[in-house]
Amino acid sequence: MSSKKRFKSWLVFTVCLALAVSVLSGCQSAGNSRESGPSSAPEQSSFKAGTYTGEAEGKDGTVKVEVTMEEPDQIKDIQIVSQTETEGLGDAALEKIKEQILQNQTLAVDAVSGASKSSEAMLTAVEKAVQQAGGDLTALKSGGVAKAGEGKTEKLQADVVVVGAGASGVSAAVTAADKGAKVIIVEKTGVIGGASNLSWAGKFYNSSAAVENGIKVNVEQEIADWIANNHWRVDAAAIRQYVTKSGETYDWLKSKGYVTTFLNFAGEQLHVLPAYDTREQTLRKMLAASVEKNGGQVITETTAKELMTDASGAVVGVKAAKADGTTLEISAKSVVMATGGYAGNKEMVKEAFGFEGVNGGLGQNIGEGLKMSWAVGAKVPDNFGGQMLHQTLARATSGLKKEYSSFEASYPLMLSYLPTLMNVGPSGARFRDEAATLTSVAAANTSAFNGPYHLVIVSKAQLDALEAKGMNGVKAPGLPGMPPEFYADFSDKFKLDTPWTNVEQVFESMVKNGGGYKGDTIEKLAQNAGMDAEVFKEAFDNYTVATKTGVDTDFGKAKQYLVPMGEGPYYAIIAEINNLGSVGGLLVNPKFQVLGEGRVPIKGLYAVGLESEGVLFNDTYVGNGVGIGYSFTSGRLGGESAAAGALGK
Ligand SMILES: Cc1cc2nc3c(=O)[nH]c(=O)nc-3n(C[C@H](O)[C@H](O)[C@H](O)COP(=O)(O)OP(=O)(O)OC[C@H]3O[C@@H](n4cnc5c(N)ncnc54)[C@H](O)[C@@H]3O)c2cc1C
Repeated sequence: MSSKKRFKSWLVFTVCLALAVSVLSGCQSAGNSRESGPSSAPEQSSFKAGTYTGEAEGKDGTVKVEVTMEEPDQIKDIQIVSQTETEGLGDAALEKIKEQILQNQTLAVDAVSGASKSSEAMLTAVEKAVQQAGGDLTALKSGGVAKAGEGKTEKLQADVVVVGAGASGVSAAVTAADKGAKVIIVEKTGVIGGASNLSWAGKFYNSSAAVENGIKVNVEQEIADWIANNHWRVDAAAIRQYVTKSGETYDWLKSKGYVTTFLNFAGEQLHVLPAYDTREQTLRKMLAASVEKNGGQVITETTAKELMTDASGAVVGVKAAKADGTTLEISAKSVVMATGGYAGNKEMVKEAFGFEGVNGGLGQNIGEGLKMSWAVGAKVPDNFGGQMLHQTLARATSGLKKEYSSFEASYPLMLSYLPTLMNVGPSGARFRDEAATLTSVAAANTSAFNGPYHLVIVSKAQLDALEAKGMNGVKAPGLPGMPPEFYADFSDKFKLDTPWTNVEQVFESMVKNGGGYKGDTIEKLAQNAGMDAEVFKEAFDNYTVATKTGVDTDFGKAKQYLVPMGEGPYYAIIAEINNLGSVGGLLVNPKFQVLGEGRVPIKGLYAVGLESEGVLFNDTYVGNGVGIGYSFTSGRLGGESAAAGALGK
């Protein structure tokens, strides 16, 4: 039965049931067309035509819809009244789900790859609206949209196949094509650019722009420090290649129209990416000018599932599934894995690294590329598990944004970046010198090592001081070191001496919404926050002594950050760490060939970007801008190697 028919049957069944009870008038069979029933029936049934509102939480806020239900049996229209989903991905998914519901008259619609939360929110919001029209949703949600391509196989041929169209995949596809290869790039979602579309800046060492701006890194020193800081458990050749070749990537990107802007970031050579809304188009143009111009293809909404191998074990292509269910078999001499890791796979991250915080990376990156590669013999690196823990979040922020201005809603967030407050782990024990909050990577990793979240303790006396004097009131040594996009919409107020308004109300709302806890006493706070009362009391007492004596015997926090807490009640802000991506999973040599068990290259298989980034870091990601810098650089160089391998050059 088609979905449309199923929906009709559901309505007919509902109408029949209502009629049987109320007017004892018969419907012959639930399978008969709705037209056979009395035209006035819906007035007496539980189904009522009209326009209904439904809402549900998406990835970045509430999705609100208006659904028009019309006689005889139709979801006539869906209007998206408001939403704040990610531009180009989440909002596109809402539209796509809407179209599919309307076209097929079913709620059994597949989530859009890479936007599952947005898709689910849309489905739930519509479901809630339809529910108000009355009736049993079971029929409407059963089955699914039949896929036109199911059972069909399409065969394609290329010199190089690139899997994944993030920064690394696009770069690889472009350079491979520029070397003369026929390239097919396959992307799971409808979006080109992956996580680069969400990023801020990249590090391209000693780029022409950096040098023009008078900043030059001592390359040998940088490489030596990098290796030592990672306890020598890294690939020295890979680090040297990135540090010495990434500067060229800046010029290469510029020559392709992807222009970054140099920024001296406290001595670090960062390059701010182009305006957010221009990036995807620029990457698409790069693909058109190289890949498509050279006879290749860009295939989106297609998920690679399996690598094809020949009798010798060499990789000779990829099998993928198109959105319509068609199986695509693409044979090629080189396959470049650029699938961006597994941060979207919570279980995999927990097993590999023990991390239980928030996934701020792409939801569609669930480890498929790694699993495919491991299945053909790729070695799991000894240091497998590293993550890109780079940001601290306050659980309260999104809820507060519904009630307060961005500035006010960000109070808990800002406090979680200040070294002058007390931080404890879930048990109530202090776990670090809070000055770690001054460096994002140190802040994130010290927290993650101590549990799924930490608590930032703030007293009512401190809230009063914030209201009177802004962050100067709690002796903040500088502005919270959060990423610029976190304060972009209140940058005018993002100052140490801006008095905070509505402070107590905001913190009361935080507690009410589940983003934190409150206790009139320390004991009560421990109880409400699920901490061990004894552990927290001891930590609190020790911290109080440290603020009085100016000596922190537990963690050695500097005297200027030891600020007395003052009178309660006390609040505990729930702070969580945002994982921007997993790091590594495939070992590569400097040609980006994937290594097998004996550390010998697997013929035909290459990896770039996050999938190969474990060669740079021992256990976890360190470094501003390396994610972007390495993805573009490894892609650029890996694409050239893959083309050379395929073309025998
Ligand atoms: C919010 C955020 C902010 C960041 N900010 C910065 C920053 O300022 N500076 C910095 O250096 N780094 C930053 N990073 C990290 C940086 O963006 C990444 O390291 C980098 O973009 C990764 O590139 P990639 O090509 O390896 O992977 P991705 O960009 O993740 O691309 C992988 C692509 O593969 C696709 N894919 C996955 N599975 C399949 C499959 N089975 N078949 C086909 N396609 C598949 C995905 O849909 C995706 O498009 C940030 C990351 C995030 C999430």
